[in-house]
Amino acid sequence: MQSSPQFVGIDLGTTTTGLAWIRPDGNPEIVPNADGERLTPSVVYFDPHEDVKLVGVAARDSGDPDRTVQLIKRHMDDPEFTVSMDGRIWTPAEISAIILAKMRRDCSQIIGPIEDAVLTVPANFNELARKATLAAGRIAGLNVRRIVNEPTAAALYYAHAQKLRGRIMVYDLGGGTLDITILEVDDHGIRCLASEGAGRLGGSDFDERILELIADAYQSAHGVGLWENELERRRVLQSGEDLKKMLSKLRQASETVGSQRGGVARIELTREVFEAAVSRLFTRTILLVEQALASVRFSPQDIDHVALVGGGTRMPGVRRMLKDYFGTEPKTCGNVDECVALGAALFAMKGADVEEVCNHSYGTLALVEDAATGAETYANTIVIPKNTPIPCEQSQTYVTSEDNENLIEVEITQGEDSDPKYVDIIGRIALKVPPNRPAGCEVTVTYRYDENQRVKATVRDERSGKTTEVAISYEGAGVLSDSEVEARREAFDSLRIE
Ligand code: AMP
Repeated sequence: MQSSPQFVGIDLGTTTTGLAWIRPDGNPEIVPNADGERLTPSVVYFDPHEDVKLVGVAARDSGDPDRTVQLIKRHMDDPEFTVSMDGRIWTPAEISAIILAKMRRDCSQIIGPIEDAVLTVPANFNELARKATLAAGRIAGLNVRRIVNEPTAAALYYAHAQKLRGRIMVYDLGGGTLDITILEVDDHGIRCLASEGAGRLGGSDFDERILELIADAYQSAHGVGLWENELERRRVLQSGEDLKKMLSKLRQASETVGSQRGGVARIELTREVFEAAVSRLFTRTILLVEQALASVRFSPQDIDHVALVGGGTRMPGVRRMLKDYFGTEPKTCGNVDECVALGAALFAMKGADVEEVCNHSYGTLALVEDAATGAETYANTIVIPKNTPIPCEQSQTYVTSEDNENLIEVEITQGEDSDPKYVDIIGRIALKVPPNRPAGCEVTVTYRYDENQRVKATVRDERSGKTTEVAISYEGAGVLSDSEVEARREAFDSLRIE
């Protein structure tokens, strides 16, 4: 047992969460939870009898979907999403904090007190989701030193464990997301060149497809459906996931499923049938690979290594597809579910020299209001393009289009599209300027993007020298203010989390 506070890395995953520390010999190692599991299912169960929250396998197996929260990571970017339980509203950050609090408490019994942590997020997590992750860590009592992108952490681990150097494409197929990232690794550090992600494409989509196969087979054999309610459906989904995993090892596998109406049945499935059923999902992942390559004008030959991350990459179909595409066998590390947490621990310890890129474009939708007529004009222009190395600061100068404008309102956008309809407005700045001015006055908009991928914007009216700065802030039932985060942090100490 060590007594000095430990630096840890935590991979707060959609389906599982892992915590790693650095052993005294300098190598990272996963720390199991108090139930002996190396990876803790990211599932929370609210017990109706005792005031206790279960996390992990016990929560997943609780058998009460109404009181069980899973896949919360998919809602971290939704300002309005909340979970209502026994009259109390829980934000996604708080649900995640329950998971992190269990990890912190359990693992500190093995490695000593845990205070500082590096948390990982998918590369394509937006600003709000990153903020919510930071809040989750704080509420759980962690001092979050940095939020690092999952593929960057994984690349750090591969660079450490297998001495990989050169251009690495990290192909990360997790439970809920797919991230494709191209990084350049040398002895001095890691530089992220491009990152593409699909926030709604992951292992659970494959589970849904296999669920359909099982349900169809059952329906044709027994003439009735396999489930009538959500609880029954989830049980079959779990069987489907087990079958999917079996098919990663065997060419043919079977699973016993049943319903009260149709009785028990053994469903046989071949890998071939499964792969045919998920071929569109495979194709979607390759399209994302192509998109990432195109964004840096690389061909497949420009990539030195493809590194596999995430449990979904155990599927032989994924490996075969990547081998066919790149012409070389993708690299694996044996513990594809753990390498993000292991890399995060390396990062927490060494603070590696990492250069990341911003994963969305940021721009402005400048609304210029004419004081006399009230006419408004919108234009969306990108100030910081996607894949710009961060931290960065970039400015763009606009001119006012009408005489007599006395209010300059700038809307801050996140997204690539030039059409305002297809970008998110993530902030607004209003700057009052002196009256009676002609059109053509210059206004400079500056965005600052820090290493945690948080954005600050400044608007400066060049004629009057007036400046306003805002940090992007979000509003919604599911968003906690800084003071609420602090209050929740104190309240969390007394929660029973098992
Ligand atoms: P992660 O977020 O990395 O924990 O990803 C977990 C995902 O990987 C889940 O969707 C699992 O079903 C999937 N997975 C884990 N092991 C296997 C396997 N042997 N074959 C196929 N998928 C797997």
